[in-house]
Amino acid sequence: MQRLQIKKDMMQLTNRSKVVSNKEMSFKEKLYIPAILSGMGVTFKHMFKKSVSLRYPEVTREFSPVYRGMHVLKRDEQGRENCTACGLCAVACPAEAITMDAAERNKGEENLYREEKYAAKYEINMLRCIFCGLCEEACPKDAIYLTDRIVPTEYKRNNFIYGKDVLVEKIDERIDITKRKKEYTID
Ligand code: SF4
Ligand code: SF4
Repeated sequence: MQRLQIKKDMMQLTNRSKVVSNKEMSFKEKLYIPAILSGMGVTFKHMFKKSVSLRYPEVTREFSPVYRGMHVLKRDEQGRENCTACGLCAVACPAEAITMDAAERNKGEENLYREEKYAAKYEINMLRCIFCGLCEEACPKDAIYLTDRIVPTEYKRNNFIYGKDVLVEKIDERIDITKRKKEYTID
């Protein structure tokens, strides 16, 4: 009795709830055919509507320009790595997903690294990353960007630790980040 009273007093979040009754089914209801036909009617109605699903991955939906996907570590126009291993992205990362080891650039490596210091090791744990984009915002060297690329699925957790081999863009396969560099205003 007390339970019923509590239920009655509960605030309704929508007006879609129905009171369930245990009344005996009528002959028509026992046949189930009207209910089946009505269900099939709903199915047929949807068959002639424009489909909202896509045949991914063959077909992909256009992403928002501000979509934040897989990271890239950028190179400059001369192909040198921009990252100077300052660690600001790691400090800004709320998920503590970024780790790196800094190293001094040696003589003769000026064509590889733009600054005197560079990241000998740079790793992002993609299982920790929440794609917030704070690493990109914190970077003073135009070195890290989130792109519209999707992080591929993997079977092993270790494969989600992305190192420089995955993150640094290839010299002959540059990743276009012009969309991310634009400034957007929210109406
Ligand atoms: S996107 Fe956010 S969570 Fe992911 S590595 Fe960058 S700062 Fe960390
Ligand atoms: S990606 Fe940018 S913020 Fe992070 S260590 Fe490199 S230069 Fe510093």
